Parts: sequence; C-alpha cells; structure tokens
Amino acid sequence: MAAYEVHTHDYDVVVVGAGGAGLRATLGMAEQGLRTACVTKVFPTRSHTVAAQGGIAASLGNMGPDHWQWHMYDTVKGSDWLGDMDTMEYVARHAPEAVYELEHYGVPFSRTEEGKIYQRPFGGMTSEFGEGPPVARTCAAADRTGHAMLHTLYGQSLKQNAEFFIEYFALDLIMDGDTCTGIVAWKLDDGTLHRFNAKLVVLATGGYGRVYFNCTSAHTCTGDGAGMVARAGLPLQDMEFVQFHPTGIYGPGMLITEGVRGEGGYLTNSEGERFMERYAPTYKDLASRDVVSRCMTLEIREGRGVGPNKDHIHLNLSHLPAEVIHERLPGIAESARIFAGVDVTREPIPVLPTAHYNMGGIPTNYWGEVLNPSEDDPNRVVPGLMAVGEAACASLHGANRLGSNSLIDLVVLGRAASIRAGEVVDAAAAVPTGPDAEVDRILTRFDDLRHASGGTPTAELRLEMQKTMQADATVFRTEEALSEGVKKMEAVAAKLDDLHVTDRSLHWNTDLMETLELTNLMPNALATIEGALARKESRGAHAREDYPERDDKNWRKHTIARLEGNKVSLSYRPVVTEPLTPPEQGGIDPKKILPKKRVY
Ligand SMILES: Cc1cc2nc3c(=O)[nH]c(=O)nc-3n(C[C@H](O)[C@H](O)[C@H](O)COP(=O)(O)OP(=O)(O)OC[C@H]3O[C@@H](n4cnc5c(N)ncnc54)[C@H](O)[C@@H]3O)c2cc1C
Repeated sequence: MAAYEVHTHDYDVVVVGAGGAGLRATLGMAEQGLRTACVTKVFPTRSHTVAAQGGIAASLGNMGPDHWQWHMYDTVKGSDWLGDMDTMEYVARHAPEAVYELEHYGVPFSRTEEGKIYQRPFGGMTSEFGEGPPVARTCAAADRTGHAMLHTLYGQSLKQNAEFFIEYFALDLIMDGDTCTGIVAWKLDDGTLHRFNAKLVVLATGGYGRVYFNCTSAHTCTGDGAGMVARAGLPLQDMEFVQFHPTGIYGPGMLITEGVRGEGGYLTNSEGERFMERYAPTYKDLASRDVVSRCMTLEIREGRGVGPNKDHIHLNLSHLPAEVIHERLPGIAESARIFAGVDVTREPIPVLPTAHYNMGGIPTNYWGEVLNPSEDDPNRVVPGLMAVGEAACASLHGANRLGSNSLIDLVVLGRAASIRAGEVVDAAAAVPTGPDAEVDRILTRFDDLRHASGGTPTAELRLEMQKTMQADATVFRTEEALSEGVKKMEAVAAKLDDLHVTDRSLHWNTDLMETLELTNLMPNALATIEGALARKESRGAHAREDYPERDDKNWRKHTIARLEGNKVSLSYRPVVTEPLTPPEQGGIDPKKILPKKRVY
C-alpha cells in the first residue's frame, strides 16, 4: 500500500451528512454542548433535502380539525402495518413541536390569511382514523420547503459552533470489535486523508435512489452509509421496499410534487378519464403513493397510456387559478417548462412512476441507535453508532412512506438522536482512538480502488446495475423477473473485481469518487432485489403479481439482510406492535391500529 499521511481529528460526535437529518442532529448535538463535527461530501445546502418541494407533515390543525392520533393512524395504514408502533407514535406526537421549532429557527413557512402556518392536503392524510375527509396536514414553504429547512438549519448549526468538514468523502467506519470509534474520510479538493475519532458516529447519508436508472434523487444519493455498515458486518433492514413516486416527469424523472394533486391537480389516461376515481373512490388522486403508481402502471398496460407510444400519463393542473400556481407551486411551473417543455397553465404534464424513496436502510430504534439484532435480542444496540434520515430505517414508514412524512422524520428523529446522545455521550471522557489496523484496512481498500486496472469502466457497470434493477425490481414484481434479476445482479456485482479507474490522482478525482459510490450502491441493490425475491406477499410498495395479497401471518416482519462480500443472507425481526403510551394515559386505542384491508 502507498503510504498516506493521515490527519487526525478528535470529537465527541461526528455526523456524516448535512441534509435535513444530519443538520438537525448536528444542531442538537452542538446545543447539548457536545463537540460536534459534520462531515459532508457536498456543500450542506446542496444535499438532496434541498429538492423537497411539497412539505412537512404535522397535525397543527391550522386549516381545520386534526389530531396526532389521526396522523399516527394514517402512518400505520400507509406503512401497510409494517412500521414500528413506538416510532410512529413518537413522530406523530412530536411533529407539531418540531415544526414550531423550525418556525422559531427561521423557516419561512407559507401563511394563511390569519398568519398561521399554511397546510395543504397530501396523499393518505385523512381525518377520523381514515373515516373522514382528507385533512390539510402538510406545512409548506411554497414548493421549496426542503430548501428553506436546509438554509435555516445550516445557519443555526454554525451559530452553535458545530464544525463543518465540507467536501470530505467518508470512506468507512472505524470499528473496535462491536463498537464504532470513528470514520476515515478523503478530502476531495486537496486529496488529503483524515481520521476522525469520536465517541459517537451518526450516519445521515441519505437514500440510494441511484440504484435505479430512473429516479427523482440527486446523483449523490448512493447509499454510502449502508455501504459502510454492510462492510462493517452490520445488517440492513427492509431494503425491498422502494417507493415509486407517481409523478416523475416522463423522461428525465424530475419530481412533480404530490402537492400539485393536494392543490387540486388530477391524473388522466388517453381517454381523458380521471381513472383514480375508479380505483380509489374516496380519496381518488390523493390515495397513497404505492396505490396511485400501481393504478397508473395498470392503465398503461391496458393500453390507456398517453403519447405516441401510450407509455405515460397526464397530470392536469391548468384548471387551477393562476395565483395558486404562482404562489403555491412556482417551482413546478418552472420544472415543467424546463424539463417537459410544458406551460402548466395550458397543458398537462407527462408523468410516470419514478423511483423516489427508500423505506429500508440501517436498522435503528427511534432514538437513532443502530441495531444489530441477534437471535435472543432483536433490539441489540451497536455502541457508538447512530443513523438518522433516509439512510436509516426506524421504521416510521414500514412498507410505504406517506408524502411529507420524510421531512418530519428528519427533524423529529434527528432531534431524538441528539437528546439520546446527551444521555449516552460523556463530554468529559477521553475520545477513543480505535485500532490503527482498521485505518490501514480502510486505506488499503482505498488505494486498491484508486489503482483498479481491470477491464470494466465504473460508468458502464453502474449503468448495468441500474438497468437490471429498473427492469426486474420495479413497481410490479414476479418470481420470474426477480430470480432472473438476482442472477444478473450477482454477475454485475462480481465485476466489481474488474473495475478500471482511469484517473489516479488524489484531488478532484471524480472517477475514483464515483467508483467508491458504486461500491456503496452495490450492497444496497443486492439487498433490495434479494429481499424482494424472498418476500412472498404484497405489502405497501412491494407488489408481487404472483402473491397479490398481504400475508400478516407469515410476513408481518422486518427483513434483515447481511452481506458477506456480494453474498446476501436474510433473516427476520419482529415488528414493534405496541405503541409507547397505553390508551388510559392518552395513547391511541390499540383496536384502531389492528391490521385490516387497506383501501383508500
Ligand atoms: C425530489 C424530491 C422531493 C422530495 N420532497 C419531499 C417532500 O416534499 N416532503 C418530504 O417529507 N419528503 C420529500 N422527499 C424525501 C426527502 O426529501 C428525503 O427523504 C430527505 O430529504 C433525505 O434527507 P437526509 O438528510 O436523510 O439525506 P440527504 O438530504 O440526501 O443528505 C445526505 C447527506 O449525506 C452526505 N453524504 C452522503 N454520503 C457521504 C459520504 N460518503 N461522505 C460524506 N458525506 C456523505 C451528503 O453530502 C448529504 O449532505 C423528497 C425527495 C426528493 C428526491
């Protein structure tokens, strides 16, 4: 191995990632008086959270009656009864205070006439435990909510003296036996290498949308945290549950927020029919995302798609008053113009279900502590390691996430992680150093990849992976396509040993960075497709044509995927079915959240 000079840094806490989750955790940890570093591969306000348009869910009741128990019920039903009840209660209950906190930190929310935070309806958000009309629960800063959140949280973190290491790429976790004691990172601009020793590492690295060919997520969403966790011998959870958003722009895949349908937009087929009325008579275009994506796919399959190839669907909003579009959806009008060449005041937007969100990720409890379930303890905690945000699986969203429930997940659970850190991290204790052999292992791997001289360029292998996942692990799934897909993915992953990196330099080497990212994407892809093949039922976003029904008796359990190299082994872990608070102390009536058929 080439000798690399390594710069050492010591902190109480190192947060990897500066999206909504990483920044909320960083801010909270710094507020607790912990010496906190935030390491991020992109500038904080360029994290994918910046693209979140629609808003953030909390039962403020500003537009009409609402209750945290209704929010919890909707989340349970949205999750198709795979979410953990403790997490779902915790988030629904703490959502309003987390939104007011954001308001006080400075997020410029849109306002009602009386000056309250404006809220819009979103899919699957209902009243009276799914018996009443849709409820306006999604708080929004026009259609730029994530952008406003990131700028505010970054400013607040700086005010609390959190230290930022920007454009540092985290390579791997330093493990001392079962305990995490830090990370090693590569500084992208000058090529230097850095060892961060810490009492606590928090992974907030976001999702892995780039496993798919068509996705709404940024190029940076490469599942790096999950890659690091898998290499440390720790498991991933529920990876087969990938959300396809109904309205990605046909072709480029940019997102058109569900807020468009919340504001009154609707979908039509080639006959001009509002087909969602047929499938979801009550909530129509505001049924849950997995449901709408499946209905669109069925319409296209049955020959009622629009366009010359009858391969997409129309989203109509030209009937909305011009001031609604200008005030509430300005970014959408712009995206439609740039990416689809459409003037939304006159024409419909061409759309198609597009890979959007990963319900699965690094298993945690609702305090963000990473879990490594064993046979006798499904809740065993990994000391020194937390995960928050889309990288984690707490599991708030179970088998399907409701729109606007991710942004609230970031802030409520990012904050919870910092509260827990305040309890478990001793600011007075010495920072652990961790084994040097671990750092050597990480640098050897880095050096090997830097000099990889096989026959397969990174971009070529990434494309092969993306096409395979797109074809075989998509909206509808079958045994045949998945078995085929697993075989293809095994062959694709085997070619990681044959990669070719052209650029050998250490600074601004995008070839090497994309190669590192590909090695992180691959375990995410493998766990996703293998988990999907094994799960012989349909639940939430996982729709098996050969097993169309949900099977609670055999499958109401979380998938745990462990990787050894490219080999995936699966086991299962029980769903948490007990809420935190008993009904006599004001908790939800357990009868309300018993599994039943999911209709909208
Ligand atoms: C287009 C779009 C619109 C959306 N709209 C909404 C919405 O309206 N409401 C809602 O609730 N949800 C929405 N979502 C989902 C939601 O925005 C995301 O789930 C959420 O923002 C993820 O936040 P995060 O903090 O977990 O990760 P991200 O915001 O993706 O941030 C990840 C961070 O990790 C860092 N990182 C990653 N790998 C490394 C590494 N190796 N080394 C160092 N740093 C690293 C990156 O630099 C970045 O700072 C939307 C998603 C998309 C794609």
